[in-house]
Amino acid sequence: MALEYKNLMEDVVVQNAITMMKVRGCCTCDACTSDVVAYALNHVPPRYVATRKGQMLAKISNYALQYKADVVAAVCEAIDVVKESPRHDDR
Ligand SMILES: [Zn+2]
Repeated sequence: MALEYKNLMEDVVVQNAITMMKVRGCCTCDACTSDVVAYALNHVPPRYVATRKGQMLAKISNYALQYKADVVAAVCEAIDVVKESPRHDDR
């Protein structure tokens, strides 16, 4: 039996990051989006749960509401950093 676990914050951060990057005029290429998501995830506490298929959607929306303020603050900070020095030209 495989171990099944997941950091729910990954989904919450990704959902908010893409929307907020568009709103704030940040480049949304894969490189910039990855940077914003990684930065934000390092600044919010992880929320790992043992997963079983079918239970994920309800849990994600609960966490999305519960940690929305933390996620928005972290993503805002991440967007500032990435807009200041985007790395998509360095490749
Ligand atoms: Zn970019």
